[in-house]
Amino acid sequence: MRVLTLAATIAVLMTSQVQAAPQPAPRWAIVVHGGAGVIERSQLTPEQEKAYRAAMTRVTQAGAKVLEDGGSAMDAIEATIHLLEDDPLFNAGRGAVFTAEGRNELDASMMDGRTLAAGAVAGATRTRHPISLARAVMEKSPHVMLIGEGANAFSKAQGLEQVEPGYFFTERRWKSLENFLKANGLPVPAKPAGADQPDPANGLAHDEGKHGTVGVVALDSRGDVAAGTSTGGTTGKRWGRVGDSPIIGAGTYASNTSCAVSATGTGEYFIRLTVARDICALVELKGMSLQAAADEVVQKKLTALGGDGGIIAVAPDGQIAWSYNTSGMYRAAAAEGRPLTVGIYKDEP
Ligand code: ASP
Repeated sequence: MRVLTLAATIAVLMTSQVQAAPQPAPRWAIVVHGGAGVIERSQLTPEQEKAYRAAMTRVTQAGAKVLEDGGSAMDAIEATIHLLEDDPLFNAGRGAVFTAEGRNELDASMMDGRTLAAGAVAGATRTRHPISLARAVMEKSPHVMLIGEGANAFSKAQGLEQVEPGYFFTERRWKSLENFLKANGLPVPAKPAGADQPDPANGLAHDEGKHGTVGVVALDSRGDVAAGTSTGGTTGKRWGRVGDSPIIGAGTYASNTSCAVSATGTGEYFIRLTVARDICALVELKGMSLQAAADEVVQKKLTALGGDGGIIAVAPDGQIAWSYNTSGMYRAAAAEGRPLTVGIYKDEP
């Protein structure tokens, strides 16, 4: 009787194991973030929440389509970040935060995990899509990083779309700057020329604190991973301050031997911890799962140092992960054979 029961139990176990067999690893995957910070249910109006979920869905679908059609991780990332840079809801491209001098100084970077090629720009002021400028640095120059006027000149020489500085202006980011400057006893500069254009995101955008950033990581059907990040940095930044977003290894990193990571948060901490590379090193050298490595760096090391923010990551074997120590992070993921998911708050998967 006992033996029979045991046999029956084993049979049931085996059946349930068969039923719970893991799905095959997706051949392609994409993860997107739109910034982390003070993002709580009680703070967003239903309209704001709807606008962010719709935007995250739209851009992730666009990136997924590139991958589904056999496109490269690099192309999917660039296409997705273009949409985020054009959307004034996010702190990148149009809708970027202002420096204390009332300028938009844009930082971006990209890294190709197949070749370890990378490109970055800091303090760019005239390129509509800074992510494309970062990619051009990688593909069309012998360098990895260009800054300020030199980056602007390179952009123009490469034929990338140029805009007047006023193109990036949004009234709500200006208000955030005014509040920041007043709180810090600093003078409020004159608005930049061309600052009077209408803001389609007016009333819909949520102020997630003084930062935000956009980033995308992807795995393509050839098995290559890549990462890209684009930002306006932090409100009221001064003295040519540069955060982690354009620093390879800090805000962005990708290697086919480990993973691809894009970060958002207070850049000073991400630089000191080389957050993106550290996560990939834990995967590569310690054999940790992607989620465990991400949590080790974000939940433990970053938190212990007093930094705030989060990351998204993907690995060549199809693992995806995110980790953040703020109250929320705009995030979305899609992969072959899996439904697209969007999350904002802590209590969402
Ligand atoms: N990491 C960006 C920076 O420090 C800002 C952010 O992600 O919020 O420039």
